[in-house]
Amino acid sequence: MVDPFQVQERFAAGAQFIGGQLRPGTSGRTQDVVNPATGEPVLSYELASTADVDAAVAAAAAAFPGWAGATPGERSDALHRFAAVLAEEAGDFAYAESLQCGKPIKLSTEFDVPGTVDNTAFFAGAARHLEGVSAGEYSADHTSYVRREAIGVVGSIAPWNYPLQMAAWKILPAVAAGNTIVLKPAEITPLTSLMFAEAARRAGLPDGVVNIVSGAGRDAGEHLVGHPDVVMTSFTGSTAVGKRVAEIATGTVKRLHLELGGKAPFLVFDDADLEAAVNGAVAGSLINSGQDCTAATRAYVQRPLYDAFVAGVAELMGTVRLGDPFDPATDLGPLISHTHRDRVAGFVERARGHARIVTGGAAPRGELTNGAYYLPTLIAGAAQDSEIVQSEIFGPVLVVLPFDADDEGIRLANDTPYGLAASVWSRDVYRTGRATREIKAGCVWVNDHIPIISDLPHGGYKASGYGKDMSAYSFEEYTQVKHVMYDNTAVPRKDWHRTIFGDRP
Ligand code: NAD
Repeated sequence: MVDPFQVQERFAAGAQFIGGQLRPGTSGRTQDVVNPATGEPVLSYELASTADVDAAVAAAAAAFPGWAGATPGERSDALHRFAAVLAEEAGDFAYAESLQCGKPIKLSTEFDVPGTVDNTAFFAGAARHLEGVSAGEYSADHTSYVRREAIGVVGSIAPWNYPLQMAAWKILPAVAAGNTIVLKPAEITPLTSLMFAEAARRAGLPDGVVNIVSGAGRDAGEHLVGHPDVVMTSFTGSTAVGKRVAEIATGTVKRLHLELGGKAPFLVFDDADLEAAVNGAVAGSLINSGQDCTAATRAYVQRPLYDAFVAGVAELMGTVRLGDPFDPATDLGPLISHTHRDRVAGFVERARGHARIVTGGAAPRGELTNGAYYLPTLIAGAAQDSEIVQSEIFGPVLVVLPFDADDEGIRLANDTPYGLAASVWSRDVYRTGRATREIKAGCVWVNDHIPIISDLPHGGYKASGYGKDMSAYSFEEYTQVKHVMYDNTAVPRKDWHRTIFGDRP
């Protein structure tokens, strides 16, 4: 197909965006961005070096006083213009996101891009709505008020599964609150983060407010996290890398925000609408080829519905159309890379000995063999403590297990190290009420699975991390609170000085 986006030309100046300009990296190492649907490279660029990270942090630090000093109204105006620019360029963003990730174009067009435009509009509004206690005399002799201040230079790291949305989730609350930022996207998917930063500049955000370093995790990533001039790290990625990031951040006493892996349970009680649960399980497990930290991965189905659920999911998975991501009829694209596809296949192969592959469990044959495709897969009969039930697979693989008593279902739903998201399927408000209270996850859906919204928080419990993305909750996390307290008495010896001077006058 003719490439309407001309990637190599578009990023001819390089894949680093520092101080308002695209420029090349200086690491001496080349990285390919590969179309996972074909295995063909679409861009070769030079990765960021630690010196490039230093330059980006310096640009962000230089921009900080001006941006933090802008009024909330000025920042809000810039973000409103930014949302308008993104909406105008929606087609380019959707194309580039599908090109670098293999996402079906209907997913990029209907989810990734409009979600990002909406997030930008949300933070344009939030910029004018910092809340806090009112100024007043909380002690009779003093007047207190609270300032919410920008923190400084934020260093953020994002994964490859939703590159545009992850860049937006990191950049928007930070800059709405008056901070400046250096974002490191996953090195295999930098395109839409760079485009996002360029669009911010075109919308009038000053140079240096948003910087992108496209570098590897081990050097550019770790250097950013450990940088003494970076005051906060916000990381989204795997739990294993999150632990390493936490170790480094601790060394420089940074504020830390970790959005890590997930293994979301999908809990179906015996009074659930079976058709809704089957549809929800297929859509919720296959979205973005299952490369979604909140994807449904473990379906627990109460015994009376179990057989019908397994049959219904297997049948519906068989109707899902794998194909060219740019074909509007394609439901499921490839995984992000052949390496990742092989990793997913490895989980399924290891499960084969002790569980039943109901459907899928292989790469498709025929014309898709050059791409990193994997068939929608349903696995039954696995033990709760097995790898396939406990570990994050990050592919189009759903495991299904039966349960009897309600208590048992809730206990099994909580029985992994993760706690990012979960869903509960029932028509009984008391059952769903109890399950939503007892499930340890940052988001629990009732009779649905996946929807997210800019106004409400996203973030984990347990090994899924801490801190929130999106919503006013995340906005506040990018500010620091200062209590200012004025003496109102004007007397040289205050009443409380008694604790030092006793009853001497
Ligand atoms: P990953 O942890 O391998 O990489 C994430 C980012 O960290 C990349 O930019 C990578 O270059 C960087 N990185 C790697 N090693 C690093 C190091 N030593 N120091 C600093 N940075 C380093 O994750 P991934 O494979 O890109 O993404 C998939 C993971 O992300 C899954 O576990 C998924 O659940 C998680 N995820 C979580 C959320 C959430 O909101 N909780 C959202 C999306 C993805």
